[in-house]
Amino acid sequence: MSETISVHLGDRSYEVHTGPGLLARAGQLIAPFAQSGRAFVITDHNVREHHGNTLTGSLDAAHLKHVTFSLDPGEQTKSFHGLEPLLSALLQANIARNDLIVAFGGGVIGDLAGLAAGLIKRGVPFVQIPTTLLAQVDSSVGGKTAIDMPEGKNLVGLVNQPRAVIADTSVLATLPERERRAGYAEIVKAGLIADAEFYAWCESHAQAILACDQQALSHAVAHAIRFKAFVVEADEMEQGERALLNLGHTFAHALEAHGGYTGQLLHGEAVAAGIALAFKLSAQLGICPEADAKRVIAHLQSIGFITDLRQLPGAPFNVDKLMALIASDKKAAAGKLTFILARAIGRAFIERDAPADVVRELLQQET
Ligand code: NAD
Ligand code: ZN
Repeated sequence: MSETISVHLGDRSYEVHTGPGLLARAGQLIAPFAQSGRAFVITDHNVREHHGNTLTGSLDAAHLKHVTFSLDPGEQTKSFHGLEPLLSALLQANIARNDLIVAFGGGVIGDLAGLAAGLIKRGVPFVQIPTTLLAQVDSSVGGKTAIDMPEGKNLVGLVNQPRAVIADTSVLATLPERERRAGYAEIVKAGLIADAEFYAWCESHAQAILACDQQALSHAVAHAIRFKAFVVEADEMEQGERALLNLGHTFAHALEAHGGYTGQLLHGEAVAAGIALAFKLSAQLGICPEADAKRVIAHLQSIGFITDLRQLPGAPFNVDKLMALIASDKKAAAGKLTFILARAIGRAFIERDAPADVVRELLQQET
């Protein structure tokens, strides 16, 4: 069930190892990137508690010296307030440019540790060992790293590619089901963008994925990683096609920002609601068959996502505020609304001139 996927970016490339049971072999897989023989593991308390021993055992087995920095879990750690003491701690531990940073956790740790790795001593190599479904299928591949600012999420960061990614699907067994479901939104997104057959497979295997069946999970994770790698290879700096990965995200970012990122709405939950809205908008514009939009919404609801904005955590949503947030989304270019729309399931495209009045009308019906 294990698979290795190569990601090629210009003259660099790296491997993503995925499948069950890989954490126990992580030391051996990452040793080639630790020239000094030293690994600096950055993690959070939850991940350390559940899986820290497996990782450190594997580092010992590979004869790597290691030190662990365990941070508070949660989005607030992905900030200057989290970055500065981390950089100090790494410096005080005498980190050198031939050491290896290991980002061991969800997207929060991956984004923060990846950024710290890019900044410290002008760059220390790092590897990603993602431990949430979202981080395995999305944030650990592609090289985006960032912290949040009071002005908004992910506004300060670097594109910094890891030397390797190890996505062990067995560690997802300890993840709360709600977090697994949120990660699933990014998996089903891959099918909805470009692969109707994979989407149909998702419909019939979603319950198995959520129940952590390793066969279904490893197939889904590998597929989503291959898809993300393919898109990122074509457009590392998001000049064009990489924007397709933002299906559902313009709405999702607005829904998340509307609530002020209190954490009551998980990113994947906002993405699921955003995907439902993107398909409704596509249908309303006459671009997508109504039946496809209905099918997508029925599937998302069947696995427990809330697609009705009136029921979503953070409701009631104010349409003017949502429209202002949509217009200010970093994906909105020069006064035009950019949306990822769909001609059908598996046929998403970038619309750079979406009619604001139809978007407003849709939001008015929905709120
Ligand atoms: P997270 O890192 O906050 O993890 C969610 C929770 O699960 C945390 O409490 C964590 O401690 C816990 N956890 C992690 N692994 C666990 C495990 N195996 N068992 C038990 N508990 C575990 O959240 P996330 O959803 O992984 O990541 C969200 C972040 O990712 C956001 O900051 C978002 O901006 C970022 N992100 C980045 C990219 C990118 O391309 N860089 C893409 C998508 C999202
Ligand atoms: Zn996302």
